[in-house]
Amino acid sequence: MNAHDSERMKGMLESLGYSEAAERADADLILFNTCSIREAADNRFIAHLGEAKRLKSEDPGRVVGVGGCWAQSVKDEVFERFPFVDVAFGPGQIHRLAEFLASDSLTAQGYFEFEDFSGHLPDKREREFQAWIQISQGCNCRCSYCIVPSTRGREQSRDPVELTAEVERLAADGVREVTLLGQNVNSYGRDVPRERKTTFAELLALVDSVAGIERIRYTSPHPKDMREDVIRAHAELPALCEHIHLPLQSGSSRILKAMRRTYDRGRYLDRVALIREHVPDCALTTDIIVGFPGETERDFAETLEVVEAVGYDGAFTFVFSPRRGTEAATLEGRLAHPVKRERMERLVEAVQRRARERAQRFVGRTMEVLVEGPSRTDPARLRGRSRHNKAVNFEGTGAPGDLIEVEIDAATSMTLSGQERLLSRVV
Ligand code: SAH
Ligand code: SF4
Repeated sequence: MNAHDSERMKGMLESLGYSEAAERADADLILFNTCSIREAADNRFIAHLGEAKRLKSEDPGRVVGVGGCWAQSVKDEVFERFPFVDVAFGPGQIHRLAEFLASDSLTAQGYFEFEDFSGHLPDKREREFQAWIQISQGCNCRCSYCIVPSTRGREQSRDPVELTAEVERLAADGVREVTLLGQNVNSYGRDVPRERKTTFAELLALVDSVAGIERIRYTSPHPKDMREDVIRAHAELPALCEHIHLPLQSGSSRILKAMRRTYDRGRYLDRVALIREHVPDCALTTDIIVGFPGETERDFAETLEVVEAVGYDGAFTFVFSPRRGTEAATLEGRLAHPVKRERMERLVEAVQRRARERAQRFVGRTMEVLVEGPSRTDPARLRGRSRHNKAVNFEGTGAPGDLIEVEIDAATSMTLSGQERLLSRVV
């Protein structure tokens, strides 16, 4: 979501006549888009802000802006602690940056309401054939570890007609793959007025029907809202990819309860079983937090059991980080650093081993790959992604944006490799 917010900021600045400076020292405007999901992001940011202070003291005409979740979570304190900051705004207020820049305002300004959507702003996409689409903003969940509800506000779904029109516009502009974005995408539509009521599964069907859109992804669904209609859509809609990112967080029902995730281990595994029943080959990835306050060895062992049982194709693993204003930051039973580190090592070993094992099912198959560009490790080869969201390195001739078929001959936990099947161009 943050990466997409940055694209909106870039798009908006371009429309105002700004262009990217090669070096920070050459910039008239230094703008940070911040993340606050874990402490490490905050700490890195404070170091960057120190550099901006130095650059501003060299040239006081420079404008320093800070947007995003960190700005929102410290609000007006920003100006007390960092008086050289000219403008600060929360993630729902990106459009106000334009107002500020156009206003010749000499006083510091902060914008922290939740009233609007940045989804309407122009974006500057990293690749012309792939686009993010923000379908909702905010989150009504209260996961006890999470800062997002306080930085992004209550959930608001975008109008389905407006979203479909945006997808049509993107398709006409050459986009072939869209990723629908929201903190909890599958609760989409509950707040849409009755005459336009649309469920997430119905929205997927609307997007699928847009000519030119060959691939649809979304992130993240919440297991509590993962219903059969969405799972069936993966089997039925041609463009919807065979990949679901289903955040687990913990395999222990006791810890899930303390996290206020509102599902337990049984319900989660039941969702996985339903996915496997309808879409047997579906790739599954997840998010897991290690070292939540009070997590015992037994709780952690239950997380490892779920990892073994599900066999994820990949996982993002995080050490619990106490965030200001969240319930979990006040809980007793914080774990010592070495305990968290040791658990993390065991978790990563299990995740990677199972992902490597699962990936062997692709060896010997011919898979559709969307070409992204040259391989990072060997520029003579190409790199792209399969519908299962696996990175694929291969020998071939495709151009970025082409869909081609690749014969897979090897698989690691993270990547597949192979060669383009000759005379196989899909499009
Ligand atoms: N709305 C999405 C993503 C939330 S942030 C969802 O619910 O899935 C992405 C991930 O960061 C979360 O899934 C969680 O695993 C992790 N995360 C969030 N807050 C955290 C914290 N305080 N400490 C460690 N990891 C955290
Ligand atoms: Fe945070 Fe939970 Fe909302 Fe995800 S669903 S953004 S983890 S509160």
